[in-house]
Amino acid sequence: MSVIGIDFGNESCYVAAARSGGIETLANDYSLRATPSAVAFDGKKRIIGVAAKNQQVTNMKNTVGGFKRLLGRKFNDPHVQHELTSIPARVEARPDGSIGFKVNYLEEDQHFSPEQLTAMLFTKLKETSAAAMQTQVNDCVIACPIFFTNAERRALLDAAQIAGLNVLRLLNETTATALAYGFYKNDLFEEKPKNVIFIDFGHSALQVSACSFTKSKLKMLASTWDQIGGRDFDLAMAEYFSKEFQERYKINAKTNARATLRLLTEIEKLKKQMSANSTKLPLNIECFLEDIDVSSSMQRSQMEELCAPVLQRVEQTFKRLLAESKLQLDDIHSVEIVGGSSRIPSVKQLIEQVFNKPASTTLNQDEAVSRGAALQCA
Ligand code: ATP
Ligand code: MG
Repeated sequence: MSVIGIDFGNESCYVAAARSGGIETLANDYSLRATPSAVAFDGKKRIIGVAAKNQQVTNMKNTVGGFKRLLGRKFNDPHVQHELTSIPARVEARPDGSIGFKVNYLEEDQHFSPEQLTAMLFTKLKETSAAAMQTQVNDCVIACPIFFTNAERRALLDAAQIAGLNVLRLLNETTATALAYGFYKNDLFEEKPKNVIFIDFGHSALQVSACSFTKSKLKMLASTWDQIGGRDFDLAMAEYFSKEFQERYKINAKTNARATLRLLTEIEKLKKQMSANSTKLPLNIECFLEDIDVSSSMQRSQMEELCAPVLQRVEQTFKRLLAESKLQLDDIHSVEIVGGSSRIPSVKQLIEQVFNKPASTTLNQDEAVSRGAALQCA
C-alpha cells in the first residue's frame, strides 16, 4: 500500500508518490501528469479530469470546474459570488445557504456541493494513482493554499473522506515546494543558513515565501500572497478581444457562454505561446458567433500593457515578502519559481527587479507541490 501526495490546483491536479528510492509523479488514464480539476455529468455517466475538460464546450451546463476556491463557503459570500462569474455551470443557493451546482445526472436534476465535486475528483485521482502504481491507495497528504482558512481546510478534509482517502496531513503549498527543494539540494546546506525565496504563481493565486535552510532544518521566514493568477491575464485579454470583435464584426461574445469559453481557451493557448515568443501571434476562431469567423493577433508587449494592473499586484506581493522577511538582497541565495504562470517573461523580469536575482528553475514547475507533499509522507 502506498501514500500519495496531491496538489489540488484550481486548474489541474498532480499526484506524486515515493517509489523505489525516489519521488515519482504519476500519470493518469490519459498518460498525462496533469488532471484537470473538472467534473462533468452526461446521462448516466460521471466524467472526470481530462475527459471532462475535453467535452466542456459541448456540455457546458453539466461540466463544473473552478470549485477549489468555493470549498467551505456559503453561496452569499462575496468571494463566492465573484468566483461564480467565471464558472459557466448552473448554480444555486441550497436551503441551508450552501452552494449547489445543478446538473442533469441519471435523468434528473441533482445538486452537488463543491465538497462533493472535489470528492469525485479525488476518487478519480485515487483510482488513477492506484492503477499507475498497481497497488491500493488509501493514505495521502494534500497540499492547500497557505491562505486557506480553517473552514476551507475542513471542507477539503471532508471531500477526502467522502473519497475514502485517509489524510495523513494537510500541507501548505508553499511548504510543499520548499520540501521538494530541500530534498534535492540537501548537500548544499551547511550550518550557516541559506535563504531561498519560492514563488508559486498558478491559475488563481500567487504565493510567495522566504525559507531559510540549514543542514538539519527548514524554517519559514515569511509568506505573502494575492488572489491573482493566470486566469486574470486571460480575462484582461478577453476583454480586449471582445471589444475588438464588437467593433469589427458587430458581435458580442459576452452574451454567449460557449463563445466566451472558446475565446478563453484560445486566449490561454495564445498566452502560452507568447511566453516563448515576442512577435505578433494570430488568434483565429471559426464560426465564433452567428457563423462569423473571427481573427486577430497580439504580441507580448501588448499583453503586458493590458495586464499591467495584475503585474503591479505581482510586484507588490514580491515587495511585501521582502519587507516581511526582513531579508537584505545580499542574504538571498536564490529565487525559485513554480506554477504555470511563473513562465510569463514579465513575471521573471519583476523577480529580477525586486530580488536582484534571476528566476531559478531548479524545481519542476508543475510537479514540485505534489512531489513535496509526497515527500512529507515518504
Ligand atoms: P492554483 O495554484 O491557483 O490553485 P493550479 O495549480 O491549477 O492553480 P498551475 O497549474 O500552477 O495552476 O498554473 C496554471 C496556470 O498557468 C494557467 O493559468 C495557465 O494558463 C498558466 N500557464 C501554464 N503554462 C504557461 C505558459 N507557458 N505561459 C503563461 N502561462 C502559463
Ligand atoms: Mg497550484
